[in-house]
Amino acid sequence: MRLRIFLFGAVIALALVSPSALGAQSPIVVKSQTLDMNFPRAMRFTIQAESSAPLQELRLTVWQHGVALGSRFTPPFTPAKNVRATFEWDFQSFSSGGYLPPGTRGEYTWHLVDAAGNVLDTPRTSYIVSDPTQKWSVLSNDDLRVSWYVGDAAFGAAVFERAILAREFLAKDLGIENVDALQVFIYADKQDFFESLPPFSAEWTGGRTFPEYGVIMINFAPDNLDWGLRATSHELSHAILHAKIRGTIGELSIPHWLDEGLAVYNETNDHAPDAQFEEAFQPAVRHNALIPLRSMQLRFPDDSGQAQLAYGQSFSVVKFMIEEYGKEKFAALLDIYEKGSSPDEGLTAVYGMDQDELENAWRKKIGAPPREFSSARLPTLAPRPTYEFSSPLETVTVAVPQATSTPEATRAALLATPPPASAIPAQAPQIPVSGLCGGVLMLSGIVAFTLRRPKNQIPRNTNQH
Ligand SMILES: [Zn+2]
Repeated sequence: MRLRIFLFGAVIALALVSPSALGAQSPIVVKSQTLDMNFPRAMRFTIQAESSAPLQELRLTVWQHGVALGSRFTPPFTPAKNVRATFEWDFQSFSSGGYLPPGTRGEYTWHLVDAAGNVLDTPRTSYIVSDPTQKWSVLSNDDLRVSWYVGDAAFGAAVFERAILAREFLAKDLGIENVDALQVFIYADKQDFFESLPPFSAEWTGGRTFPEYGVIMINFAPDNLDWGLRATSHELSHAILHAKIRGTIGELSIPHWLDEGLAVYNETNDHAPDAQFEEAFQPAVRHNALIPLRSMQLRFPDDSGQAQLAYGQSFSVVKFMIEEYGKEKFAALLDIYEKGSSPDEGLTAVYGMDQDELENAWRKKIGAPPREFSSARLPTLAPRPTYEFSSPLETVTVAVPQATSTPEATRAALLATPPPASAIPAQAPQIPVSGLCGGVLMLSGIVAFTLRRPKNQIPRNTNQH
């Protein structure tokens, strides 16, 4: 594939509109229309217009790509023949726009009405949310765009190539194709990274994935490349899997252990185990202290050691499924989950085993004694997530979902700086919790693939693997 590498700096999205191009049929004339990008703070929509009669109504509609519904805003202005109005979409405020990650795009239009009843709707104008605070280097093809601002071309190329291979494994081996292009933004500096994240992001967060937008934001520097390659591949796997299995039913079908296990399995070209997780997994095998698979269906344990074990175990189970029964079956399972089968229904249909039976087949393979299963199912760790539906466009002022993911540490943060004593920031908004990577799912919203970072990990910069 043809690769393009280039630099671009501060970007101000500016659309000057020729008056003759707009409103040729209407006495309403748009003198100018601009969008100023000031990420991570805000983007400002401004319009200047005039008409033969006083302009009385002015409305901005924004369609954010990846969000089903548009958002309408009516900025204040004084009715007059010449008007100027501004709406500031605040990335840090839930009530006036809300967070959007860099790389996302959308379209907007202004609706104007004057006192004589004349109406003008401006043509849809596209925009891209960009982060002009850094001088980004970019490497991209049709499937992937990697942006970084510290590190040479070889650094970016290494991340790009690993991410492409991770994507190709999912596409060619597991049949997850027709996924929209993904964007990866690598923030070398922790402060830069946090200033670019949504409000209430926990300080131990190491990466954030927004599958609705196909954007991954990740924090690592070139001197931590090995970790960064694993973490980027891991988050990319989540993003692609959830791009395939998107929707109200499918998202619930994927057992959490399968989602995480596949992400760990796809961290390297040779699907080698993650040394950090093996440290928890191997002793648990020896001491018959493995976690029941069913109890990891919706989320992982909060305890740091148990969480590491959960990752190692999930990796081992997914490896067993793919390498013992073949990629085709695993691909078939994902297809069934895409249609909304429950975790056990899907497994039984494709593998002839439910989660308990699969667990014992796997335990036999790794030399662990079988688990006794009672007729009463083991409880799962969390209830199913709830959804919050947006109102129809006609009745809503702001329909864009807010950046509401619970900020927990991501897999990407497992080797990042230690978490604070309190897991959730005091001001974190109340939101539904899903089983997706311990994060949060809102319909047409944003998912953070997260897990609390184990407490006993060494700070990232001194622990590479
Ligand atoms: Zn994960």
